[in-house]
Amino acid sequence: MDLIKPESTYIYELSEVDRSIEDLRSQLPYASDLLYSVKANPHPDVVKHAAMQGVGLEVSSEGELEVAAAARTAANASTEIVCTGPGKTHAYLKLAAEKQAIISIESDTELTDLKRLGISGQSLLVRINASVSPQRSGLQMTGTASPFGIDENNATPVVRRLIDEGHNFRGVHLYMGSNILEENDLIRQFEISTRIAIKYATYGSGDFIADLGGGFGHPFAVPGAAPRWPGMRKRLEKITEPLLARNTRITFESGRYLVGGCGTLRARVLDVKSSKGERFVVLSSGVNHLGGLSGLKRLPRARFSAGSETHCDQSERLVGPLCTPVDVLNKQSSTEFSIGDDVEVPNVGAYGLTASLLGFLSHPCPPEEIRLNGDIIRTTQIQLSNKEMQTP
Ligand SMILES: *Cc1c(COP(=O)(O)O)cnc(C)c1O
Repeated sequence: MDLIKPESTYIYELSEVDRSIEDLRSQLPYASDLLYSVKANPHPDVVKHAAMQGVGLEVSSEGELEVAAAARTAANASTEIVCTGPGKTHAYLKLAAEKQAIISIESDTELTDLKRLGISGQSLLVRINASVSPQRSGLQMTGTASPFGIDENNATPVVRRLIDEGHNFRGVHLYMGSNILEENDLIRQFEISTRIAIKYATYGSGDFIADLGGGFGHPFAVPGAAPRWPGMRKRLEKITEPLLARNTRITFESGRYLVGGCGTLRARVLDVKSSKGERFVVLSSGVNHLGGLSGLKRLPRARFSAGSETHCDQSERLVGPLCTPVDVLNKQSSTEFSIGDDVEVPNVGAYGLTASLLGFLSHPCPPEEIRLNGDIIRTTQIQLSNKEMQTP
């Protein structure tokens, strides 16, 4: 069969995932656990690979839970799965119980729903929105009005209620923000989450989990190595000492730090044209494949590198192939691209393909190529098609 080489491909190198897991673990307390946040990259091979390295899985939807449970089976491991996310549906809660996952309760309503569904004796964490706001950098998810978790002031009645209703109170979950780059900012939030975890550790029935959060930053769609926080391990070991003394399992969560560096998007230059004195480079990938979130100013602009980098005097705009003016990946490039060039965007292993506007304009999804130490082990493609539903 004559295969046409796709214009755009996502490439994930699994050995990079190993390296990043190792790297983050070496900066966290010696006696602590790590969860991989599947939303960063839900590709089944990536998730399975993470599970094989002994990290647990943090999921926030039914779909992610299915992938995580399959990864646990494939990895033949006793991987811990934690289900988070506001507005959990009945289907999600049921599946979580069925898969023997731990559910992080984000609201009183979820306890009512568990009761309605006849689910009892379930392992639960309570997600708490701390009263104080810890950090200055990154995306903030706590210490302010938030759909995530239960306000610190209202958390104790929820803990009491779930114990009364016969569930297994396994611990607390605190997640305060994302993409934090400064060690001091990370430490400040872990001081707050530790303080709250200590408060609740006495309610637990042994094997208490203090999920202290994460937010470890990583470059996105620009070149660069993962940041390192040389003092973090020692400082965290000191801060969390009172928790260890209570026989608590300390857990951290990370998506982007673990998989951001494993992914590269290779795209093709489809056209180069001029308009009113400006050069436009039209690529095979736009916000449908990459960083749809950047259009919402949640992510920085992508930077591309070409095989041959010649400097260009005139500034270029890198745009995608979508018929909408929002499809701009970079407003100013100083590299001269030619039609047919393959260009690469590094550091898109997290929040790449599935965080983009995949369905918009109905272009095919780019294939995802899984590599291990340079060898291609599998290529997959997400299918988006319109299927008729069974009328109930
Ligand atoms: C998104 C999210 C994460 C992962 O965030 P990263 O910035 O990718 O590390 C972890 N925990 C929760 C609860 C999240 O919502």
